[in-house]
Amino acid sequence: MTPNRPSLDLPLLPPVDVAVVGGSTAAVTVAADLARRGLRTLLLHDRSGLGEETAGSLRPPPEDLDRSDPLVAATFEADGPYPVWPGRIKHRLDRALLEAGVEFRFFMRPVAVLEDAEGSIAGLLVAARTSVMILPIRGVVDASRRGVVARLARLPLTAVRTPPPPRLNFLAKAPPAAGLERVETLSDAIETQTRTGPLLTTLFSAELPAAPEGVADAAREFFLRTALLDPAVCLTAETLIETGAEVTGAEGVSLADDASILTQDSFQPRAGLYLLNDLLPLSLAGCTRFARPDVQAAVARALAAQVAETLPRPGEPVALPGGGAGGDYRFSAPFLRRSSGLRSLALSGFESLGRCDVVVAGGGTGGAGAAIAAAREGVEAVALEIQHGLGGVGTLGLIASYYFGNRCGFTTEVDDKLAALDPSFPKANRWNPELKMALYARLLREAGGQAWLGGFAFGVRMDGARLDGVLVSTSYGAGVLECGACVDATGSVDVAAAAGAPCRLIDGNHVAVQGAGLSPRNPEAGYYNSDHTFIDDNDPEDVTCAFVEARAKFTGSFLDTSTFVDTRERRQIRGEFELSPLDFLARRTFPDTVTTARSNFDTHGFTVHPVFLVNPPDKKQLSADVPFRCLLPIGVEGVIVTGLGVAAHRDALPVIRMQADVQNQGFAAGLAAAWSARDGIVVRGIDVRRLQRRLVEAGILEARVLEESDSFPLPQNAIETALANGPVTVHDTAVLFAHEEHTRPRLREILHGDPDEARRLDAALVLGLMGDPVAGPVLEAAVRARPWDEGWNYRGMGQFGKSASRLDALIIALGRTGSGEAAMVIAEKIRTLEDLPDFSHCRALAEAAEALRDPVLAPPLAELLRRPGIAGHARIDMKTTAERANPEWNDNETRNRSLRELHLARALYASGDLDDLGRRTLQTYANDLRGIFARHTRAVLARTGEVAPAASAPRPAAATA
Ligand SMILES: Cc1cc2nc3c(=O)[nH]c(=O)nc-3n(C[C@H](O)[C@H](O)[C@H](O)COP(=O)(O)OP(=O)(O)OC[C@H]3O[C@@H](n4cnc5c(N)ncnc54)[C@H](O)[C@@H]3O)c2cc1C
Repeated sequence: MTPNRPSLDLPLLPPVDVAVVGGSTAAVTVAADLARRGLRTLLLHDRSGLGEETAGSLRPPPEDLDRSDPLVAATFEADGPYPVWPGRIKHRLDRALLEAGVEFRFFMRPVAVLEDAEGSIAGLLVAARTSVMILPIRGVVDASRRGVVARLARLPLTAVRTPPPPRLNFLAKAPPAAGLERVETLSDAIETQTRTGPLLTTLFSAELPAAPEGVADAAREFFLRTALLDPAVCLTAETLIETGAEVTGAEGVSLADDASILTQDSFQPRAGLYLLNDLLPLSLAGCTRFARPDVQAAVARALAAQVAETLPRPGEPVALPGGGAGGDYRFSAPFLRRSSGLRSLALSGFESLGRCDVVVAGGGTGGAGAAIAAAREGVEAVALEIQHGLGGVGTLGLIASYYFGNRCGFTTEVDDKLAALDPSFPKANRWNPELKMALYARLLREAGGQAWLGGFAFGVRMDGARLDGVLVSTSYGAGVLECGACVDATGSVDVAAAAGAPCRLIDGNHVAVQGAGLSPRNPEAGYYNSDHTFIDDNDPEDVTCAFVEARAKFTGSFLDTSTFVDTRERRQIRGEFELSPLDFLARRTFPDTVTTARSNFDTHGFTVHPVFLVNPPDKKQLSADVPFRCLLPIGVEGVIVTGLGVAAHRDALPVIRMQADVQNQGFAAGLAAAWSARDGIVVRGIDVRRLQRRLVEAGILEARVLEESDSFPLPQNAIETALANGPVTVHDTAVLFAHEEHTRPRLREILHGDPDEARRLDAALVLGLMGDPVAGPVLEAAVRARPWDEGWNYRGMGQFGKSASRLDALIIALGRTGSGEAAMVIAEKIRTLEDLPDFSHCRALAEAAEALRDPVLAPPLAELLRRPGIAGHARIDMKTTAERANPEWNDNETRNRSLRELHLARALYASGDLDDLGRRTLQTYANDLRGIFARHTRAVLARTGEVAPAASAPRPAAATA
């Protein structure tokens, strides 16, 4: 173990007066009230939506609700078959915060309370996945369910209550068949219209059987939830209904039946720390009363007045108090639109949360299988899942259907078990996401593993280059979970990135990511595929805005939105091997294949690999062998990656990302991690042939892989055949690109000597894309001679095949040749473009301009950017985003207009700019709320040393008035 780090330089957020932690009606009311009093307030909630005690727990507001508080009246106005739809409550509470000028972030949680030099509370260390930031504060209101701030601040707590067993509310087509006690019916049958016709559901509440003795607090919810496995269930509540045993204060503290009679000291047990949850000294009756939103609002308003009067003025946060397991802690870099630089913080150590063999970070499509596989090997496996159920995209993401994929092995096992529970599944190729979520949990429990739901990895502890612990945040606090190996199944390689492995997300070259969605949720649980935006999972502001927008978008008749953002493309590792589309297009085999994935090119956007500028990807099914090395991050030991974050060119992802394949890949990663932990060898050191044999036995791999080696470079005759055929098929084109050294001289011969003009142009295109100047004159002539052809516009959903026209491809290739006349030829071409050009033409211009960097291009590009309708599409304000949300399901006009504007600005900027127009446009996009645009633009600006300006903060309502 390396010695303790005395201090860490961590990003500093702009200071606020008050941080409110939690998502209840009380949390929202106190935050809005404080902002109206002119205090800068930031609300942090570890879920995707507000109204935890009602919307989150599916608890209808009481019939005798006192609506005298305007926030309560506006939030709980009845307007649908269910007393008030959860999504509607969340949407109205989002709006209450936006109108009051309160900033808020979802999926963020404090992981430490920081003190100033005098020992007063002066800040919070807050985590968004594996990035942590220092938030200087004057005070904090702890309105979180389990009192996470109070626990982190080590307030003395005493267990004085004997609470009733926890309950779970759920919506179902019929009462649960078995396994639950004291089931109550909370509503009449509710009829809703679904895509398949009317549906009758009823809201039920059930008592949950106790969790096994001795399990960690953080694991309790997992064990409690495994009680329910029923195909009739359409939606289970995100939040369990339970009261804690503990309150603040010492033994003998008297408990009140009504929070409104508590003294100010009860609300403020320590200077700067205010309580607004059931750690208050309340009796069980008092807690039940405090669960009412009207009572919460009244108590919160009184507390806001108290906070405004008593808020201290601490000094700078300098230290994390206490001491725990020391070590070399590491985090990933956050994406911040506003930051106050870095601050050095003394970090003495995080508490130890114990040890297990394998930590699986992320219990999604890949992670659930990884945890089950590891646990079945007899090792102690803990899955950390930020959501409140397993399965990720395929369950809480509502993508409850297979699309292609190689359905074998572990996937078949899961399918057979699902089919046994719900015979309608195999016929329809659609599953009930609640059922699959519960099935994963059952399988994990049966294998002896566990999950910490609502728990997330927020950093790592390293021993040299080897990860030896994962920093975990739960509703009960934060600490280090030591482990023998970690499967990073976060889909966005949160753990590998924190450990320092080189990663890629988006750079200055391309803003091409496959579209993201956030589905509405209907009582008919099922499959809701969507693709209307771009979302960066690791950007909390973007993720928060995506939920706010989706709730404004789907206010129609929907129950809620999914609690999960469905991103198809995320941060990836740079692996020991990076799978290229050339590999599977040219049918490459490997010595270390661990899965054989199957899909067509469901690209949901545009491709960037040059092979597809010559021949667009085909709709046909392809098979792709994925080597073990794609799962291994460079330079870091103790971590294996699975799912969307594996090392693969982004254009290879559409073929290897299908759920059937990710489930099997997760299973393989879980086995490898278990063997590594059990045998005490690094993951990359395991016997891969042995792993393959095991995967053959499990039905995941075909036996042929045991005999295979790397088939590249292809034999001479295969390359000759591709050359003879020319770049006519995508297979032959892939062979040419994959063997560039060999094919380049032969292509030059064709360019200069082939009698066939079409063959000469094909050769020029391939050579140009390889950056060969020799192709310049032929490409110049071709671009000059051709009128603009039909371009390509981003649609996303169901979009396959070509994403650039022939002329676009020729322009990009011409740019890469750097030929003398290229800029002039392209400038002429721009002047002939229609008023609102297709996106692919703008992209081609941006790529050519960036290769050429010639001022001759600036005037026509500036003229284009100034045309009506082209500019002004950046999204920089959450409130306006919500107000302008387009109700159409998969509308992506906003995204597409931004893409065009951004590419033209990029082209102009690269050409030396005119009137500062390109730079100003990019500066605006550098703070776009869609993190993908913001990151890309910052990378473009950074090439010339430009720094993005800080975004402006929303101002409290009182200050604005
Ligand atoms: C909109 C959409 C539609 C799709 N359509 C289909 C389809 O029709 N058919 C098909 O087969 N495939 C489809 N796919 C592809 C497929 O669903 C995904 O590629 C696959 O599910 C990704 O699996 P994963 O394990 O990498 O990620 P996920 O399933 O997202 O799992 C990652 C998990 O990690 C958790 N997590 C993240 N960070 C942390 C952290 N720091 N700590 C703890 N937990 C964390 C997340 O909450 C999540 O549960 C679709 C994908 C999307 C996004």
